[in-house]
Amino acid sequence: MTILIYLLSFFCAYAEAAEIPLSLLTKHGLHSYLEPQRSRLLVEGANPDAQSLFLLDVPYALVQGQFVGLPEPLLVKGSEILFPMQTAELYLFPLLSETERKSLAAEVQSPKVDVNKGDPRCNSVRAVKKVFIDPGHGGNDLGTKFGSLFEKDITLKFGILVAEELRRRGFTVSFSRTKDVYLPLDIRSTLAKKWDADLFVSIHMNSAPSKDAHGTETYILSADGTDAEARKLALIENSIVQKASSKQSAVQDILWDMEQTTYLQDSAFLASYIQKQVVQTAHEFLHAKKIEWKNRGVRQAPFFVLSRAAMPAVLVELGYLSNAQDRKLLTDKNFQESLAKAVANGVKQYEEACKAH
Ligand SMILES: [Zn+2]
Repeated sequence: MTILIYLLSFFCAYAEAAEIPLSLLTKHGLHSYLEPQRSRLLVEGANPDAQSLFLLDVPYALVQGQFVGLPEPLLVKGSEILFPMQTAELYLFPLLSETERKSLAAEVQSPKVDVNKGDPRCNSVRAVKKVFIDPGHGGNDLGTKFGSLFEKDITLKFGILVAEELRRRGFTVSFSRTKDVYLPLDIRSTLAKKWDADLFVSIHMNSAPSKDAHGTETYILSADGTDAEARKLALIENSIVQKASSKQSAVQDILWDMEQTTYLQDSAFLASYIQKQVVQTAHEFLHAKKIEWKNRGVRQAPFFVLSRAAMPAVLVELGYLSNAQDRKLLTDKNFQESLAKAVANGVKQYEEACKAH
């Protein structure tokens, strides 16, 4: 039954419109001409006979001489034109050659982002007001555990604390869950999208076979993962997902990661701010006790929960439940409050960087 509900929700969520920026399509073989009045957009493939004329204000197009109604109108966001998924699938992908479709898929599936740029910034012109907090796991998905200590409980605790701190800093906050309930991974990003969140922050606790592994790392999405260890972690965090992707077409595979791709550089900036704040705060907290809190950096891994977030999205692994010292601190009220403040400060710094341009 759970599987059935999951599959239903998966396909319903999938049917929701993802948007594809025109700039990404033109990079991979399409040519576009926007009228100076910005009311009509002509798009053509390598073969000039293959062209479509889109009207920007109404959901209609002239596709190779035929007048058609679009499932959804095009969206204009700043200088970018976004194609709803279904429209792109029907009227744009057929204009691409096989090779172009493959190169588009390759970029989308392995986006190149420098996750450790010297000075983190913000690319987005969008104001950051609404932050969606996603406490990892829940219900029968316990996450990692140590004895009777479950990741799902600590992530919820942290999620609530981070939300309080964000509200104090003027943000509006919503959650994927505020109770101990099971929530499929794809629903988490769908909820964030429905709420029109500006940022998505997923909170997790780490675990490793070696009891020595400790500290914080912050992830953004990639198809490959920074290294084998990062890929393995994503596999563990994703394990609750029973992927239906094998049944999907090549086009659907392209679209799988599309939504997050647009936001990946900003996700990397947000991750850098959060990572830096958390590590610095932990250092200050533990300085007198001469305890080291390890900075494990910003990394990339194929986390399912991030893949369909249509906004800058990060996943913070605050510390290791498999390490005795981390475990003790992560369950300490004062330390929890300090780290929650640090995450909120990281978000605040990112918001200020966005405001600055
Ligand atoms: Zn987790």
